[in-house]
Amino acid sequence: MLPLKDKDKALVQKLLSSGCCPRCVLRFCCINVQSAYKRPPQEILKELIEFIGDNSTVEISETKTQSDADAGQEAAEAPPPKRFKPDETGPTREEESPVCVLCLGILQEHCDQTLVSKMAETVKAEKYEFDTLVLSVSLPAQLCVREHSCWLHVKTELREKSLVLGKDDVIQVKEAFKWVMQSLVSKALGGAAVSAFEVGVEFVHPETDKDCHFLFCELLCFQSVFTRMAVVKALEKISEANFLKHYPSPPTRPSSSCESRDIQCLHTSVFIAGRYNKFSRSLPQTPWLIGGERRMESSVEELIAGPSWTCFNFSSSGREDVDVRTLGNGRPFAMELLNPHKSWFSREQIKQLQQTINSSSDKIHVRDLQIVSRDAMGRMKEGEEEKTKTYRALVWTQKPIQKEDICFLNDIKELTLDQKTPLRVLHRRALAVRPRVIHSMSSEYRDSHHFYLALKTQAGTYIKEFVHGDFGRTKPNMCELLQTEADILELDVESVDVDWPPPIPE
Ligand SMILES: [Zn+2]
Repeated sequence: MLPLKDKDKALVQKLLSSGCCPRCVLRFCCINVQSAYKRPPQEILKELIEFIGDNSTVEISETKTQSDADAGQEAAEAPPPKRFKPDETGPTREEESPVCVLCLGILQEHCDQTLVSKMAETVKAEKYEFDTLVLSVSLPAQLCVREHSCWLHVKTELREKSLVLGKDDVIQVKEAFKWVMQSLVSKALGGAAVSAFEVGVEFVHPETDKDCHFLFCELLCFQSVFTRMAVVKALEKISEANFLKHYPSPPTRPSSSCESRDIQCLHTSVFIAGRYNKFSRSLPQTPWLIGGERRMESSVEELIAGPSWTCFNFSSSGREDVDVRTLGNGRPFAMELLNPHKSWFSREQIKQLQQTINSSSDKIHVRDLQIVSRDAMGRMKEGEEEKTKTYRALVWTQKPIQKEDICFLNDIKELTLDQKTPLRVLHRRALAVRPRVIHSMSSEYRDSHHFYLALKTQAGTYIKEFVHGDFGRTKPNMCELLQTEADILELDVESVDVDWPPPIPE
């Protein structure tokens, strides 16, 4: 039984005689019971007719369904009459039923197994993997105009009967379409239910595209593209009288039904995290482009993504310069895979992916590769500034040095630096003085002009600038400490102390 109330009778009758399909009648009766829409249209129609059947003022020619044979004869007659006749939508004649003036066929012939199969085939052909599915739909903008016209049409009559119908209470075509189709498409694709994967269908109806034009002429805002948003806004602005002067109410009967266009598939992002080592002193972390020209042939992110992914966003816990190596346990990174087709990975497959990455280049190495949630990714960035990093630098001194000259460095603890934004990054970072802490240092003598300097610092400390001083922009600096000019020849990141992602036992 349809949840219709006695007061709906006049409305149902008016809608049916205006050329609305059974589901659009339900929408205008504000029925929000999903199961009602899922029933076959001819069944809904039958019940609607029975519902209004005892009303003597019915405008519909007949209220009793005829036999199948009669229905067949009737339906063979063209063109479809403007006045509704119940026999035309008999069970065997649905494909020849007149096109609804409101949904232009979307809730009729497009709400069926044919479209379900077409959508399911598209998704299967693209080999998408997903746990859950949502349906999206794009409708021709003129549906809003037709909806408005019909609403004005029934509103006047309802008002005479002291009834009201709020435009916002009418169930949207989009909503009704999803109620019918969501579970069918999900079922056709293996029983999935909400979210994660989206399959969308776009409907167009060239025949009625001009429905929108008068609106913009009347409002003197000329547009070349009639977006749904623009149409909705225009409908809010135009007066009812003006609308009715230029547009038939109820809307005219179209001769064709909507066409379904592209089926679009969109999978929500999958996140993969891990740690990487960089062994090259001529490898940037991300593609290095200057004025659109490539400066280095590859990058860390491309070497990681290369074998498996093309559409991704790469992020990491800090970054090293192109000439800096990252050793030790490596630097935490995460990749957001965009619209991935493959999203199910077994532990074994992830291990395999990691091996593929590692065997494809000797410039990088990846460990702890794993699937993570979007939320978990935030942990990589949070508290980044408070974390510590350890470095090893090869330092050159202008003045000759003895082993004893650099011993005192080993005793320096918790040295606070004032670092002005380095000259080399000033083009992309605001000028500021940032205090940074060097927790400890140790030196390892090489020869009279070289020594290794191991550093444990607060994350975000500019090590190169601490060594050469950056023209006095970092204070104190190694030049001041040693009282000679000094420079940094090589730098390695020895560890990034961020405890994410969790280690994966080999
Ligand atoms: Zn309809």
